[in-house]
Amino acid sequence: MRDLWRDIKGTLEPFWVTLSYIFKKPVTIQYPEQKRTPYSRYRARIVLTRDPDGGERCVACYLCSAACPVDCISMQAAEDENGRRYAAWFRINFSRCIFCGLCAEACPTMAIQMTPDYEICNRDLLNLVHEKEDLLIDDGGKDNEYNFYRHAGIGVVNPRGGNEDETEPEDVKSLLP
Ligand code: SF4
Ligand code: SF4
Repeated sequence: MRDLWRDIKGTLEPFWVTLSYIFKKPVTIQYPEQKRTPYSRYRARIVLTRDPDGGERCVACYLCSAACPVDCISMQAAEDENGRRYAAWFRINFSRCIFCGLCAEACPTMAIQMTPDYEICNRDLLNLVHEKEDLLIDDGGKDNEYNFYRHAGIGVVNPRGGNEDETEPEDVKSLLP
């Protein structure tokens, strides 16, 4: 008898769950006619951003590439006439990217950033390989004021201590006992 009641309950319970959902608002949306707005910290399309002065933020340090768990970032470093480093070419293979955000976390210049734009699907895998021209935007992204070369990296352009907001380097030998 106990088993009979258990079976009846087990049979009716799914019907009750189904009935209770009939009057609830559907969660399905008619994509692509209807688009869902993702959360602001949603991680999707990756971009390369610029300094407030318009220069490329990326200094081709390879940190993002080293941090990427699926090896989908590659680049070639180059230097301009002032010794400022930049990426001669920069490539992300989005067919391998898992949008983990580790590249953006590793980047010291805030050059590489995640955006909430999730509409980058493509049937042709080669179209998912984005070059620097496809990645570089004319904006600073999440922190428009940040300028790596004006602070940490300026020693490469001018001698250490010779820039605005920068003090002379410490002579470590003078600290010896
Ligand atoms: S989001 Fe993750 S997987 Fe995608 S490029 Fe960055 S580190 Fe690699
Ligand atoms: S995007 Fe950032 S971490 Fe990657 S190479 Fe450029 S500066 Fe380095």
